[in-house]
Amino acid sequence: MSERKPQTRAVRIQTQRTGEKEHSTPLFLTSSFTYDSAADMAAAFADDSLDVNIYTRFSNPTVDEFIEKIASLEGAEDGVATGTGMAAVFATFMTFLSKGDHIISASAVFGSTHTILTKYMPKWGIEYSYFNMSSPEKISELIRPNTKMLYVETPSNPGLDIIDIEAVSAICKKNNILLVVDNCFATPAVQQPIQFGADLVLHSATKFIDGQGRVLGGVVVGKKELIKEMYLFIRNTGPSMSPFNAWVLSKSLETLYVRMDRHAENALSLARALQDHPQISRVKYPYLESHPQYAIAKKQMSNGGGIVTFELKGGVESGRKFLDALQMLSMTNNLGDSRSIASHPASTTHSKLSEAERQEVGITPGLIRISVGLEHIDDILADIRQALDQC
Ligand SMILES: *Cc1c(COP(=O)(O)O)cnc(C)c1O
Repeated sequence: MSERKPQTRAVRIQTQRTGEKEHSTPLFLTSSFTYDSAADMAAAFADDSLDVNIYTRFSNPTVDEFIEKIASLEGAEDGVATGTGMAAVFATFMTFLSKGDHIISASAVFGSTHTILTKYMPKWGIEYSYFNMSSPEKISELIRPNTKMLYVETPSNPGLDIIDIEAVSAICKKNNILLVVDNCFATPAVQQPIQFGADLVLHSATKFIDGQGRVLGGVVVGKKELIKEMYLFIRNTGPSMSPFNAWVLSKSLETLYVRMDRHAENALSLARALQDHPQISRVKYPYLESHPQYAIAKKQMSNGGGIVTFELKGGVESGRKFLDALQMLSMTNNLGDSRSIASHPASTTHSKLSEAERQEVGITPGLIRISVGLEHIDDILADIRQALDQC
């Protein structure tokens, strides 16, 4: 039989691991596992590649189930799970970069990723260079003999900039550089970067993968030999995912496709409805024709995802008034929740950046980011419209 559709795999990938014939994935809340003999125990420790559970920092059946599902959806050979999205980013850097190496990154990356690159990398003797997402042709000029990794987020948070994964992957392959894509905003339901040549794909599973704002998690998927290196790093340094979180996330994957379809449908309706609003100077959404990289979005994403941004003409002051006037949308910094969320990056997630750095990553004073939820679009629109009337 040919491989089942991803929508089916998201629901059906499940391994019987208990002999109890349970229908739903069990939760293995155990720190360690036992052996039948001293010889078995010795063998488990002697060979890292043996498929036995030893200790939950190393592996756990509930965590394995989550990894198997997401690797399948991303079209990857294997994966590793971490306690948070940042642990996934950090473990990726630490596994593949050494003192004296160089990494090229899009300047528009998640705030904490930016902090790792600018504050910690130099301390460990790892050099970094930034390129602007609007001029990817600059990447080639930044490559040095010691360049080991190219790191991008597409769409980026919160700028919603998009990069042509296939085009940058060609540059990476030619220069023997690992291409790492943070696929958090799209999820595998919308975009599978490996299909376009990415070597490693990572996620903050905290966002759309959980989808209900309950647990933190991270995951990295890719080729077996790369994941093996990451597995050993995580097993020894400890940023492992908890089985409970893996269980929640594994359940969440069953509804990922259905949710992403509705997130995207609501987001596109919202983006269209706000386009000509008198208080707004610009609406950005990957599937709006006015998006600067609309053609690339159409090529590599199956829909525009669940995040819409817009710029309030009234700047910072209007941004604050808008948030205060909301009656239904949540004022919080998470995203990818079933509940719609509004945030103002300039005064929150990116407040530690300088004004010039914010400009560089496209965070203008009146930028509002909406994580469009699963409520009825009429109610989402009504709340946003009444709040706009008050700024
Ligand atoms: C939230 C986020 C992260 C960090 O994930 P945590 O789970 O909060 O550690 C990394 N990248 C992107 C794009 C994110 O939105």
